[in-house]
Amino acid sequence: MNERLKREIKSAHPGHAYLLYGKAELVEAEALEFAMAINCRNPQDGAACGACSHCLQIKSGNFPDLVVLAPEGVYYKADQLKTLRKYFSLTAKQGLHRIFLLQKADMMKEECADRLLKALEEPAENTVFLLTAENEDRILQTVASRCRVIRILSENKKALDGEREEVFSLLAAVKSSPLEYLFRSAEKYAKEREKCASFFETAVSLLSENYLYRQGGAAPAHHLPEEHWSAEQLFDLWQWALAAPILMESNINLKLITENFLLRIKRKDDLNGNCSWYTL
Ligand SMILES: [Zn+2]
Repeated sequence: MNERLKREIKSAHPGHAYLLYGKAELVEAEALEFAMAINCRNPQDGAACGACSHCLQIKSGNFPDLVVLAPEGVYYKADQLKTLRKYFSLTAKQGLHRIFLLQKADMMKEECADRLLKALEEPAENTVFLLTAENEDRILQTVASRCRVIRILSENKKALDGEREEVFSLLAAVKSSPLEYLFRSAEKYAKEREKCASFFETAVSLLSENYLYRQGGAAPAHHLPEEHWSAEQLFDLWQWALAAPILMESNINLKLITENFLLRIKRKDDLNGNCSWYTL
């Protein structure tokens, strides 16, 4: 289960409306986990036990306090929420919390969402709205602003994001770190060919995004500050990182290639561009 959702459940004041967005199968599964965990008779560290009567009822789709809605057709029909509205004011019958799960909440037009807004603004006691959506941009702002918004990532995506974060931290730190740090980092990435290739691939992506931003493109998620990174250096390093796989195909030691790249970040800064390694 998502860590942020677990924390919400363990907190003294869980929200009354959540918007979970991400791939449909992931967000639907997380929403059910959340419904179970918040109603579980024996929760463990914020997660559902999966075995108590409430958990079992939710799993089998027979829990009276879980109401699941999905669009009838492409979009929600106005009537769907109209008929449901009378339930919004009721509190839980059997469970600890009454859950309204609105799947594909991004497929809701304004006239339909208006009916939901009032319920979101003045929730009945022990009622939680769970909205799921694949496309966050398509959710009406009026609806999203009343929810705690949580992005659900797949394990694979989480690992990729973590790796990107790591490479960014390294690039950002090299200029002000001792050479020893640079050599240790190079050693780490050069251990395996695949890891090394992925390091340069990520570096290409980070450097190109930052360079293109200087040329008027979109702001990068990982920003290398202008005062330490000139556009010229970003371009130069980007091209260098692009060429790294070609060097890797030759007989040059992976550690040397990675060290040379990291030194280039530092040397360009320290020695005003006089980098002898470049001729390698
Ligand atoms: Zn349980």
